[in-house]
Amino acid sequence: MQNKTLTELSELLHKGETTSVELTRHFLDRINTHNTQLNAFISVCEVSALAQAAAADKQFENKTAGKLTGIPMAHKDIFCTKGVRTSCASKMLDRFVAPYDATVVEKIAASGMVMLGKTNMDEFAMGSSNETSFYGPVKNPWDTDRVPGGSSGGSAAAVAARLTPIATGTDTGGSIRQPSSLCNLTGLKPTYGRISRYGMIAFASSLDQAGPMAANAEDAALMMNVMSGFDERDSTSVDREVPDYTATLNNSLEGLRIGLPKEFFGEGLDPQVAANVETAIRAFEKLGASIKQISLPNSHLAVSTYYVVAPAECSSNLSRMDGVRFGHRAENPTDLLDLYQRSRSEGFGAEVKRRIMIGTYVLSAGYYDAYYLKAQQCRRLISNDFQRAFQEVDVIMGPTAPTTAFRLGEKTNDPVAMYLADIYTISTNLAGLPGMSIPAGFAEGLPTGLQIIGNYFDEARLLNIAHRYQQVTDWHKQIPRAFA
Ligand code: GLN
Repeated sequence: MQNKTLTELSELLHKGETTSVELTRHFLDRINTHNTQLNAFISVCEVSALAQAAAADKQFENKTAGKLTGIPMAHKDIFCTKGVRTSCASKMLDRFVAPYDATVVEKIAASGMVMLGKTNMDEFAMGSSNETSFYGPVKNPWDTDRVPGGSSGGSAAAVAARLTPIATGTDTGGSIRQPSSLCNLTGLKPTYGRISRYGMIAFASSLDQAGPMAANAEDAALMMNVMSGFDERDSTSVDREVPDYTATLNNSLEGLRIGLPKEFFGEGLDPQVAANVETAIRAFEKLGASIKQISLPNSHLAVSTYYVVAPAECSSNLSRMDGVRFGHRAENPTDLLDLYQRSRSEGFGAEVKRRIMIGTYVLSAGYYDAYYLKAQQCRRLISNDFQRAFQEVDVIMGPTAPTTAFRLGEKTNDPVAMYLADIYTISTNLAGLPGMSIPAGFAEGLPTGLQIIGNYFDEARLLNIAHRYQQVTDWHKQIPRAFA
């Protein structure tokens, strides 16, 4: 049951061969059995999930059920969920129960899907390994001594182990794509503005974007149909028609022009990851695509630019966590300053503090021009590189992450090594472009990903490319043995 696609599950429900309550119980049982090992969920919402499932079953009786009605899913714990703890994996918000639903949560609920629970993540989405969570690290279902990637590591592990058919994630510098790559999933970070950020706790507002983490491209397309669209409550969401992302999945790839940036194949790239990407590229040639070497000459600036922009924005966004407006409040303060200082010292973990300090520094009067302003200029150069490339090619391909999943603890004492895990994903966030990771084979038993980057609002094309590839390969169907 747990290995079926959303379309297959939907058919079973519509034919009356199963009920949403039955399906929901099945996945809740799986979570019960496996979550202690994986730590993928922070909160499991058994009672409300079963109530939502019962309501979905009523819709089947009344013949008002839609395509996704009654299908279980999970939300990354960064999305506000009314009446349910929304922790962002931080001690700061350990006891925060959101008073309203994020737009994404609202839309998915309106489609009739059932929320199983909230998934673990790096604290405030800062990390590439899910080791910064207040609730402890998530384990990779492919090898539980290894990280699932981050920051959407809980969603990735949950879908990979089929504890849920699909989940949401967010991606500020790679947090949907990198864990998708490390856990063998199909993950899509849409164009900035495609999906509302309302109620999605902000890390770096100009970079954050939500998206689906799925077992295959068709499932991701179905989820995109529900998640996308303009929201007047988010002034950065774009008022632009949402296509039916499933309608073009089978389009031919004849004549597709694929660009391979030479900067994505240099030093630091694991040879087996590179070889798998090359094999995938040959499959696209067989499907009618042409390949061209291109250059994104400012790629080497991406990581350092990101680690100025993202901390700057997070230092501002997290200022509301002061123990008064939001967040953990220290006990028995001597005065207001003591209250602020101790609440924040106690509430935030080390990585979050590091970023707030960097952010405050680069925005300070004496250093603003040297760091923040410079980073904004670099951001423009990176973005221009892509626009130049898209005059010659339709999409860009390369590896998602430089290596397969690393061992727990391997990079925790070296923030810079950790930051390099996102070397190929960060530039798309800086440019606001859509990017996708799809399963592309294994290296010593661990999954590797292929990244596909498109021009603005080209999500339908990315999903089409991924779907065609998944019709001629079966990497995406591989499931970690211990959870089959
Ligand atoms: N790993 C990157 C970081 O630590 C990206 C995180 C994300 O996309 N949320 O900031």
